[in-house]
Amino acid sequence: MSNLRFKAVEEASKRKPVEVEAPAKKTSSYFGEFVFDRNNMRKYLSKETLRLVLNAIDKGEPLDRHVANHVAAGMRMWAMELGATHYTHWFHPLTDGTAEKHDAFVDFDGNGGVIEEFSGKLLAQQEPDASSFPSGGIRNTFEARGYTAWDPSSPAFIMNKTLCIPTIFISYTGEALDYKTPLLKSINALDKAAVNVCRYFDRNVRKVYSYLGWEQEYFLVDEALYSARPDLILTERTLMGHDSAKNQQLDDHYFGAIPSRVSAFMRDLEYECYKLSIPVKTRHNEVAPNQFEVAPIFEECNLAVDHNLLLMSVMKEVALRHNFKVLLHEKPFKGINGSGKHNNWSMGTDTGVNLLGPGKNNLQFITFVANVLMAVYKNNGLLKASISSATNAHRLGANEAPPAIISVFMGSCLSQILDDLEQVTNLKAIEIEEKTGTRLSLNHIPELLIDNTDRNRTSPFAFTGNRFEFRAVGSSTNCAAPMLALNSAVAAQLIEFKQEVDALIAAGSKKEDAIFSVVCKYIKESKPIRFDGNGYSEEWKEEAKKRGLDCETRVPVIYDAYLTKPSIELFEKTGVLSERELEARNEVKWEQYTKKIQIEARVLGDLAMNHIIPVAIRYQGMLLDNVYKIKALYEGDKADKIAAQDLSIIEDIADHLNFIKTKVDEMIEARKVANKIENEREKALVYCEKIEPYLDQIRYHIDKLELTIDNEMWTLPKYRELLFIR
Ligand code: ADP
Ligand code: MG
Repeated sequence: MSNLRFKAVEEASKRKPVEVEAPAKKTSSYFGEFVFDRNNMRKYLSKETLRLVLNAIDKGEPLDRHVANHVAAGMRMWAMELGATHYTHWFHPLTDGTAEKHDAFVDFDGNGGVIEEFSGKLLAQQEPDASSFPSGGIRNTFEARGYTAWDPSSPAFIMNKTLCIPTIFISYTGEALDYKTPLLKSINALDKAAVNVCRYFDRNVRKVYSYLGWEQEYFLVDEALYSARPDLILTERTLMGHDSAKNQQLDDHYFGAIPSRVSAFMRDLEYECYKLSIPVKTRHNEVAPNQFEVAPIFEECNLAVDHNLLLMSVMKEVALRHNFKVLLHEKPFKGINGSGKHNNWSMGTDTGVNLLGPGKNNLQFITFVANVLMAVYKNNGLLKASISSATNAHRLGANEAPPAIISVFMGSCLSQILDDLEQVTNLKAIEIEEKTGTRLSLNHIPELLIDNTDRNRTSPFAFTGNRFEFRAVGSSTNCAAPMLALNSAVAAQLIEFKQEVDALIAAGSKKEDAIFSVVCKYIKESKPIRFDGNGYSEEWKEEAKKRGLDCETRVPVIYDAYLTKPSIELFEKTGVLSERELEARNEVKWEQYTKKIQIEARVLGDLAMNHIIPVAIRYQGMLLDNVYKIKALYEGDKADKIAAQDLSIIEDIADHLNFIKTKVDEMIEARKVANKIENEREKALVYCEKIEPYLDQIRYHIDKLELTIDNEMWTLPKYRELLFIR
């Protein structure tokens, strides 16, 4: 059989683990080797330059051109010693990945020779042509020019002999064209708002950091098998494929022994990560076959986001060395678990206190918890929008991931404490309670919590002892999107909290009483967001509706949450995004949504017409031949009896073929109509409601054919072949 599928299966089955020579050194000796971190800065910068750069990083003080020149010179020297020949600004446009344009250090020296050059100007700012990146109309009305500007808070690094400088990306008129700009603004907004609240408790707090520890799930597929699946190549998910008889029902993959090929890949990946300072810590098999997870030690949010983006590209490169393809799509395979990217998020002070960690100061702890609850409650639709995409939509609500409703799981112990606090309705009551020991019961939180951080895998947003875990985030998502929404929402909430408390103090309340009373009010008000039950159940969907939570499941409509009056106010109040930026970004989101479905529809249509239908007809032809032969050899009833099976399969195939052909034609027509729609939101909605349903309908019949047609003839690798790496 010269069928591509069989070649691929054979190739994949012969693979051996690719052992990459492990460095015989301690991890700490090469950690950050390719990063211009504080350690390397100390070696390559003068004392004065170092001081000014650290001020910029730690205190956000501006860096002048003169200093930038010194930094650039040191950076170039360091990079060239490590073999770098090029440099690039590395930024995150509103597409899925990162962007870079490489320039060589080399330049004419004016005397007929060449030298290596890298000035402070080139470090600090560049002007890539913005017109090829999505901007949601911002570039059309103004200028095509866009600027990238150095973000000193995320250190430069070397990848593929290129010095990469993390930058923001903005338009000529100053609007953000990327994720990093609003993320940095949200981090600042949260810092300011949280410091002001912290000062109620500790006058020494100067800075509050937001922290992120992501857990990245992914699939690995053998490269040869991947190459035989055009749908994987073009859409990162299988648009067809019947269930494998065995998949995850035996629960034998989760935390199982890591296959040796994969383990070699993981070790190689970790080595590359450490050189780039990505502090990966955890690796394990996930629930679905071929599904794995990698998680680092948590870091300051901006750095953690950069590290996740970097990891996603490093993974893809390292995988190739091991003849794997990494799938970061949220739902590459139907019928088995999809991939998420849990975002563990917390806030901590420069005095070393985790504001979401109970124990030290429980009133402070409850204050921050109550504010997060309020922020998530008031912005549950917005937070859902921040993680919604055409790809994540396949995962959310698919009985293996949180539903498309945001709720918060607090665990039985903390829920009890919050419920108790809710009973306290006025200042007088608090004073009485204080004497009888309610406050005292708060002091028991640490012991209780340590033993009681029960897990609820069905919750999209769970408190896990000293942090919140935003679990609805999709595996391919840029973490900046949910993090900037969450940081902004909590910042806005803390600002409001401070106003309310200050008003009570001005009216004569004692500080602690004022805080306590607003906290209790918040706990009560935000109660509808708290849900500790089974998020996968149908009852919860009903209940959530009653509670007024956002239950919308159509992604283009979910995006509307960015443009509601409260959302616009939230982002403007915190200075994170203007209304104009929000509008532009939504245009991009709708457009991306449409394009994703459009590509899938095209790929499915093509595959149906030139892979599936021809094979089905060939097999049907074979059966028809057989029937002729039977009829030639036998007569009457006997012939009919012998040919009955063939005839029934022939008819079956004909039914499926008819359905597939009709639906593909209808889908093409529906696309033609949709493509004429000018308004991006409307177009996306038509793609969602009218086009996407065809994908599953057509697939159903293709999958039936896969079961029927001679295995020898089927050209696309099957699930059972794609999914079990040995
Ligand atoms: P899980 O049991 O949820 O799978 P993992 O160990 O896989 O946990 O990942 C937990 C993630 O949470 C890690 O990245 C870890 O560093 C991070 N984390 C731990 N504490 C905090 C914190 N206070 N703030 C933010 N992230 C944290
Ligand atoms: Mg985990």
